[in-house]
Amino acid sequence: MTERTFHVDGRLVPESEATVNIRDRGFLYGDGVFETLRVYDGEIFEWEAHADRLARSLATLDFEETMPPVTDLRQRVLDTVAANEFADAYARLSMTRGVQPGKLTPESRVDPTITVIVSELPRGGTDGDDVWDGPATLRTVETRRIPSEALPADAKTHNYLNGTLARLDLQESDADEAIMLDTDGNVTEGATSNLFFVDAGQLKTPSTDLDVLPGITRDVVLDLAREEGFPVETGQYSLAEVREADEAFVTNTTWEVRPVTAVDGHDVEAGPMTKLLAKLFDEYVERTHY
Ligand code: PLP
Repeated sequence: MTERTFHVDGRLVPESEATVNIRDRGFLYGDGVFETLRVYDGEIFEWEAHADRLARSLATLDFEETMPPVTDLRQRVLDTVAANEFADAYARLSMTRGVQPGKLTPESRVDPTITVIVSELPRGGTDGDDVWDGPATLRTVETRRIPSEALPADAKTHNYLNGTLARLDLQESDADEAIMLDTDGNVTEGATSNLFFVDAGQLKTPSTDLDVLPGITRDVVLDLAREEGFPVETGQYSLAEVREADEAFVTNTTWEVRPVTAVDGHDVEAGPMTKLLAKLFDEYVERTHY
């Protein structure tokens, strides 16, 4: 396999030379933000939405003034994808508070570390294979979603311990994605995905007023569903409602629309609304990229 090329602080470098300082705060404290991006045919899917969310995450960590112009960041991603001669790819754009002289207290002078890593990810699309091996099976885990009062859920930070613990809870089970509840017992989301379900013909997903990351794929799916005239509701839901759903699916940038066939051992159908939304999503990608 030929060595990949990554982007580190403004330079394209071979993977084996792509390093950051051991004192980088992204490493020491998870003090950084990132976006997982999907590249279809050399172009970033929903770039503006990702750039907006990156800016919001940076604002939460209070170093948004160090964000380079959006066009510059986009170019770093595209240059990295092009250097590897990928057309369809996964990319991760990260920005940390970098190295600072003190200890935990952040200093106002920030020299961020900005990296892009990529891997090839062929597109499933309207007549290809999906990126996931099969439908998702979900299990509710003991790990609760961190309350936004402690760590704002709408910031996509390097600290993924909440999701890591949720995935560890899945060991010994046959499930491959977690359902996380908030501290009040409402359904929030998966470890790395947003959750949707269908109840009596209505598409439902937990509101972003709860401790939920506002997924870019979630927004696209909600728009597509509304355009199609599906009744859509965002709200507060109990586990019982999800377990009794007629259909369910999870979304994220790489999975796109991934059907769910079991929730806590209860069978759920990969039903007609899920299939139609997956098709509409594929067609949207097709329309906007190919
Ligand atoms: N929720 C969490 C906790 C995530 O980590 C992710 C993505 O990784 C998502 C939702 C889905 O977000 P997006 O559709 O922007 O990839």
